Amino acid sequence: MRITVLGSGTSHGVPAIGCDCDVCRSSDPRDRRTRPSILIDLGADGGSDGGGADAPPPFARGVRSILVDTSTDLRAQALANDVRRVDAILFTHSHADHVFGLDDVRRYNQMQRGPIPCYAGAQTAVDLRRMFAYVFEAAQQKGGGLPELSLFRIAGPFSLGGVEIVPVPVCHGVLPVLGFRIGSFAYLTDCNRIPDESWPLLTAGGGVRTLILDALRRRPHSTHFSVDEAVDVTRRLGAERAYFTHVCHDLPHAATCAHLPAGIELAYDGLVLDVPAWK
Ligand SMILES: [Zn+2]
Ligand SMILES: [Zn+2]
Ligand SMILES: [Zn+2]
Repeated sequence: MRITVLGSGTSHGVPAIGCDCDVCRSSDPRDRRTRPSILIDLGADGGSDGGGADAPPPFARGVRSILVDTSTDLRAQALANDVRRVDAILFTHSHADHVFGLDDVRRYNQMQRGPIPCYAGAQTAVDLRRMFAYVFEAAQQKGGGLPELSLFRIAGPFSLGGVEIVPVPVCHGVLPVLGFRIGSFAYLTDCNRIPDESWPLLTAGGGVRTLILDALRRRPHSTHFSVDEAVDVTRRLGAERAYFTHVCHDLPHAATCAHLPAGIELAYDGLVLDVPAWK
């Protein structure tokens, strides 16, 4: 499968509005970071399933292209990366930087002529229904213009497109957030702690070899891993390669990567990773 980092930046994005720091003024395209999201392309063999969540979605067409979060920058990310289809959406949590591009999925509804199944943890699902009441409570508006979504609550591992999606609970300060593991790949954004009970989800079955992990900046933060903390997590997991995301304007791409341990670098918008879906 192929992972595309659609956005690697923190909630403000980089450059930050009104900031003249070296990173915000950098000419290196890797220092331009939109809000955090990835696209998972399972390839042409996607199956049609969906067990494990509340109810299997009634969608016959195979799932191939899975979007993780609908960032504030979704439209620009979809154009920049020529994202032609979105068959399913996984939500990590309901913070604004991860959900406020949701309305832009209307184009996929149009092109694919159908609703898109969305998967979220229990609290995130409640939040989405409240934040997007005009979508989920509907009936106030007739004649199109609304995203068509089917929202399913994640209750444990489930299958999509023939692969197993393992939700990995992580801590974002006091807020529970979901990371996701597929085979030897894991995406853990917006976290500053991995609880004891989640480690086995990451180490089972050969463990995680390719990791995308939150690392906001060098200084500690109350809800995000720092660079040093993220390096420690990477080492403890034994991942072969790790890419840090949700990066703020404290970290210039080239200079930061030059001092990271072998196998670890900062992610950047447009980064493409080919990883095996199975061990
Ligand atoms: Zn975030
Ligand atoms: Zn700046
Ligand atoms: Zn967050």
